[in-house]
Amino acid sequence: MVHIDEKLEPILAEVLRRNAGEEEFHQAVKEVLESLGRVVAKHPRYANHALIERLCEPERQIIFRVPWVDDAGQVRINRGFRVQFNSALGPYKGGLRFHPSVNVGIIKFLGFEQTFKNALTGMPIGGGKGGSDFNPRDRSEGEIMRFCQSFMTELHRHLGEYIDVPAGDIGVGGREIGFMFGQYKRLTNRYEAGVLTGKGLVYGGSRARTEATGYGATYFVQSMLATKDQSFDGKRVVVSGSGNVAIYAMEKVAEFGGKVVACSDSNGYVIDEQGIDLDLVKEIKEIRRERIVEYARLKGSGVHYIKGGSVWDVACEVAIPSATQNELSGNDARTLVRNGVVAVGEGANMPCTPEAVRIFREAGVLFGPGKAANAGGVATSALEMQQNASRDSWTFEQTETRLANIMRDIHDRCAETASDYGAPGDYVLGANIASFVRVAEAMEALGVI
Ligand code: NDP
Repeated sequence: MVHIDEKLEPILAEVLRRNAGEEEFHQAVKEVLESLGRVVAKHPRYANHALIERLCEPERQIIFRVPWVDDAGQVRINRGFRVQFNSALGPYKGGLRFHPSVNVGIIKFLGFEQTFKNALTGMPIGGGKGGSDFNPRDRSEGEIMRFCQSFMTELHRHLGEYIDVPAGDIGVGGREIGFMFGQYKRLTNRYEAGVLTGKGLVYGGSRARTEATGYGATYFVQSMLATKDQSFDGKRVVVSGSGNVAIYAMEKVAEFGGKVVACSDSNGYVIDEQGIDLDLVKEIKEIRRERIVEYARLKGSGVHYIKGGSVWDVACEVAIPSATQNELSGNDARTLVRNGVVAVGEGANMPCTPEAVRIFREAGVLFGPGKAANAGGVATSALEMQQNASRDSWTFEQTETRLANIMRDIHDRCAETASDYGAPGDYVLGANIASFVRVAEAMEALGVI
């Protein structure tokens, strides 16, 4: 059960009333409010001037029609969203998600989380998120391009390098960012490289951006393990998903000496006791754009493919959920604890249900919440903006070193904050409080906004 301080209860009640039916948004707000009781007890001024209420209300929400023509010449309609959540620290920043499950509640939860995550990076970026209920699966390249162009035809009027800077998320990778940047450039007649991040290297992208979220999550887990004098070396690891975040988490885990034995997609999961062959996953997912079942087919003996089911049934010492929200349930958490998991780092946004998080915390499992553990992606997006602004391009090593330092700082800030507030080792509390204080201080300084 979630425990909310009585001073904050009316705020939650109002969020639930005003955003009826938006369950993921409720879940994200509850989780943050649960941590803030200790802050308002220590600094009562944060409960004044409707500061927390304002933080729970997006600055702007844009919903629009996206008409496009499929390969058969039929007109299709999707719905586009951009929630500009909070710009106290800088221009709105956060990815675009193309997935049939997208609705305003999901985009709002992601935008809310993004505001705190971006604050944790220490960089000058506000929070936003967007996307569409468009399903890119089985769509031709031409259809994807026409969809992206139509989506940007409306969205472009709300963007700008000093206004709002989107990036990728589920269903939006380098290809889609390229199509959207091309359309933005046509519509505005400006080569405004800093308006989107996750761009290709030939037109203003940053080295290490593609790798950043997965690498960053792995760095974060490495720092958590180090607090217990442990490392990835020789550990069994399970990573869910097989998209951008999952692939580069698996790559870094292997570099750190861990062995990833299973990964998944929304149809099922593969177990390879020899260690997942990442070149093959990249070929299947990044080049051929096929299902993970292909991995088992191409590898043959020694690899098991399980259709449906839960990848968390596979025993491991470290789990990095990197697919989507609420993909790891309370039952999954119990199974993981029973199988001896020592650390969980959320590569995805809110992949663990509240019950799962509670079980990990009670069992003393090191638990890195998404807003801290997966902040490496947006941090490197901010580095991309820096390179664009200075017309510079850094080496991979330079960029990765910055990323590694940022992740270490985030880890240490969360750990120190948790200790300061009487809960050593509680990264959920540490991340929520450290990020809240930064956004709240900026909002206080800017008057009633
Ligand atoms: P991708 O689209 O590259 O990959 C998503 C992966 O998760 C795919 O393997 C996909 O399988 C699986 N997946 C998606 N939805 C579901 C579902 N409903 N059930 C089961 N599996 C699912 O996305 P990303 O890797 O970019 O994003 C993954 C997560 O990380 C998201 O939560 C995102 O918000 C978060 N994140 C991403 C960042 C980034 O820089 N990309 C930054 C910070 C967080 P399938 O192909 O079958 O759909």
